[in-house]
Amino acid sequence: MVNGVKAIRGMNDVLPDESYRWIHFEQIIHQWLAAYGYRNIRTPLVEQTDLFIRSIGEVTDIVEKEMYTFIDHLNNDSLTLRPEGTASCVRAVIEHNLLYAGPQRLYYSGPMFRHERPQKGRYRQFHQVGVEALGYAGPDIDAELIIMCSRLWDLLGIPGLRLEISTLGNAESRALYRTRLIKYFEQHHDKLDEDSLRRLHTNPLRILDSKNPGMKEIIAGAPKLIDDLDEESCTHFESLQHILREQGINFEINLRLVRGLDYYNRTVFEWITDKLGAQGTVCAGGRYDGLIEQVGGKSAPACGFAMGIERLLTLMQENDKEIKQPVPDIYIVHQGEQAMDYAWKCAEFLRNARLSVVLHCGDGSFKSQMKKADATGARYALIIGDDEVNAQEVTIKPLREPIEQVSVKLTAVAELIRK
Ligand code: ATP
Ligand code: MG
Repeated sequence: MVNGVKAIRGMNDVLPDESYRWIHFEQIIHQWLAAYGYRNIRTPLVEQTDLFIRSIGEVTDIVEKEMYTFIDHLNNDSLTLRPEGTASCVRAVIEHNLLYAGPQRLYYSGPMFRHERPQKGRYRQFHQVGVEALGYAGPDIDAELIIMCSRLWDLLGIPGLRLEISTLGNAESRALYRTRLIKYFEQHHDKLDEDSLRRLHTNPLRILDSKNPGMKEIIAGAPKLIDDLDEESCTHFESLQHILREQGINFEINLRLVRGLDYYNRTVFEWITDKLGAQGTVCAGGRYDGLIEQVGGKSAPACGFAMGIERLLTLMQENDKEIKQPVPDIYIVHQGEQAMDYAWKCAEFLRNARLSVVLHCGDGSFKSQMKKADATGARYALIIGDDEVNAQEVTIKPLREPIEQVSVKLTAVAELIRK
């Protein structure tokens, strides 16, 4: 290792033997989103720190301890590597007035950064696809987002994901609930861990999200938000369930579902697998009707979700969904100066015919070049020597089947190979 420099812990290289799976995944994603009329948005990886504090919430794991925040010493700005995409998306939508033209169906994909303890399915640079529907108030768009996820699991070949949904109500019902929760936890003060004590008066809903097994029992006994739920949120939740049932989407209502970010209201949902241990949530989202105004825009409802690409890729692999690594159609081996000149021409000609062609570069005997051809996984070797140049032909040798090689005109190659 040069000067001992290594990648940052929790931030992974994706090497070629793996990256083709990512490309396969991304191709499916873009087609899938286009099928629902969602359009791509690309925002910077770095934002003003304040954006995330204001949107995700001051008393959340992400803002309290997971953000990569630094001072840009050129102008003393506090900047943060984005820990999630919704805040940036909302910021861009406000800044460029996109909602002026009407509601927006948007999506993004790319790296996110959180300073967590790295383990399988949990990294410090990880990747998400996020889907956001802004300017839509009704439960129909909540249902659309969930239904499109369900289609995606089919497209990716991931069966058996469990859908959990819940509702967080509106701001008033959460305020009522908050008071009740504080009262309940105060009664069990002696059983609260350090984190929970700290959050008791700042963000008691977060206590419900505690990963500490010692807290499980007391959390199980806590009051439920559904009892404080406002009428409109209740209707919204019921309409969502109606659409899901009509469209044959199975779900469980989990009234304990608390998302790790503060901006959610009403609908929240998670898609969960049992195959990845504690890192079982592969996709999560919900409604965030207050966020746009909170970030400085004109009040507008919105709903969205994000999924973790690493976890989905792992699941695809575990489900034995075989994705073939792409190999070149042809590897061109050549010997002699004239042959090389001809080889260059052949390569470009065949690429015009939309074949994937690797031209041997560097020296080497025919034999060693054939070894290299074999190692690339190419289906055919195209051999060019003096004989071929003189006859203005090429010799085509199948590398993966026991078939005799043949010499043909260059113009016949593409058709021969496609047969
Ligand atoms: P978790 O409960 O697993 O910490 P989260 O609630 O923090 O997840 P979200 O902020 O909702 O996650 O992000 C959406 C999805 O992004 C998650 O469901 C997960 O698939 C993925 N994800 C989140 N954090 C990480 C991470 N550190 N490494 C890999 N994937 C992640
Ligand atoms: Mg988390």
